[in-house]
Amino acid sequence: VFLFILTLFSLAAVKLSSSMSKKAMIPIQRTFKHQQQFLADASHELRTPLSIMNASLDVIELENEDTITPYSKEVVTDMKEEIGRMTRMVQHLLLLARSDAGSAEFEMGSFDIVPKLRQWVLAFEGVAQKKSIALRMMLPGSLIVKGDQERLKQLVYILLDNAIKYTPEEGKVDVGLDPNPKQWRIIVRDSGIGIAEADQPRIFDRFYRVEKHRNREEGSAGLGLAIAKQIVIAHRGSVVLESAPGKGSTFSVEFRV
Ligand code: ADP
Repeated sequence: VFLFILTLFSLAAVKLSSSMSKKAMIPIQRTFKHQQQFLADASHELRTPLSIMNASLDVIELENEDTITPYSKEVVTDMKEEIGRMTRMVQHLLLLARSDAGSAEFEMGSFDIVPKLRQWVLAFEGVAQKKSIALRMMLPGSLIVKGDQERLKQLVYILLDNAIKYTPEEGKVDVGLDPNPKQWRIIVRDSGIGIAEADQPRIFDRFYRVEKHRNREEGSAGLGLAIAKQIVIAHRGSVVLESAPGKGSTFSVEFRV
């Protein structure tokens, strides 16, 4: 009888605590959902003033083309660069917030990735040249893939931006495409500073940066790879990182779509 009563008590206690935790979870979950939605809305709203500011600066530059002093021209260029950086950061936040809220939209379509990849890599020619980095491509003739073109571009931009940022002058950055149609891969390899084994699992976390102070000076926020991860997950892909400090890093992204 004693055991029976004890069992009844413990069952009642379990039921009570589970219903309590259920009740406690609902407002927390609701607050969390609100917070996610707020972040998504705020990021979305921030894009408009940023693009207006950019367009206004274009007008100022154009209207004062003949009279603008070299100093003012430099200021305008700096402002445009900062706006560009902020726009990218807002885009990153927006995608993260939408992924959290389960409302990130991916437009999957079939396209030849080779000419696109060439175009995306060429966009980094100038930055690479500034650091005397040899930027090379090893691409097949064509490869029809299924994916979201804009997001894949964002992914390649993040990997290339990092490869160039974390490679000292005179280094090398190679972009390759392995055309296995069932498991095609984009490979970005650099001869840069590399990533210690202990940091490797963490670099895909939000706001994680290996050398915090140095990167902050360069305006890094530690969001790039977190976004890259979301894009890869949405394409049912995976990332393999091979890296050693002082030797460089290779990011291989494999897709099975
Ligand atoms: P960040 O904006 O700081 O570059 P990311 O999320 O793109 O943010 O990267 C996170 C961190 O991972 C970087 O701060 C850097 O320390 C490290 N990292 C990323 N890519 C490379 C690379 N190609 N070589 C060396 N370190 C890298």
